[in-house]
Amino acid sequence: MKKLIFITLVFFACSQNDPKITPPGNAENSEAKNITEHINAIKVVDTDFSKGRLGLEHEITLEDLEKFHGHLCDGLVVGYQALGEALKVLYPGGIIDRTNTRIVSKASPCLTDAAVYMCGGRYQFNTFYVSNNIGGLFVVQRLDNGKAVSVNMNKGVKPAEINRLGKLAVKGELGSCELDELKKLEIGFSENLLKTKPSENFTVREIKDFKWEPVLKNDFKKTDILNKNKPRCN
Ligand SMILES: [Zn+2]
Repeated sequence: MKKLIFITLVFFACSQNDPKITPPGNAENSEAKNITEHINAIKVVDTDFSKGRLGLEHEITLEDLEKFHGHLCDGLVVGYQALGEALKVLYPGGIIDRTNTRIVSKASPCLTDAAVYMCGGRYQFNTFYVSNNIGGLFVVQRLDNGKAVSVNMNKGVKPAEINRLGKLAVKGELGSCELDELKKLEIGFSENLLKTKPSENFTVREIKDFKWEPVLKNDFKKTDILNKNKPRCN
């Protein structure tokens, strides 16, 4: 049931990006509008063909990111909202120039996917790398003016139990039914994030002396596939 609510909530969030279509006075719709306002689509601009000029605009939703990543999870919601906050500071006009942005991400499989998809950074073009030594989930930088920001999740936002069980899952120490428990906790956490203003959960800080120090490191653990062959809970 909870899963259904979550899916419905995400569906609302992703399918009704224009709050103006909500009829006034309808409680259910106002709730959807409320949620939608907190996870608006992110507007991006790119070049318009293989050798093209800048100017082609798209809107990216959490649902788009889910398809790229493979599943919807708490890490993806964290990445989507955290980057939304960081990009707002770098692009106050509201349109993210993915040809003008580079990003460092923590190694989580969900965060790294959010990073490359939403910011357009790629390792091979020196606009993306992964490091667990940054002081935040991401550091994002505009190339034209050099402005860099870090974004982090505020203390107490993520339930500690998710981290505790997550560590055990990575070590292969969670049984099938315990994995389901962890999934439920993560869904609850995602729901809470989606119901809250991202500005209440994440803090963006400008980094004045940011140094871009790309490293190629390819031995991070892809933690979201470690339990893929675990039997279902009966
Ligand atoms: Zn994930």
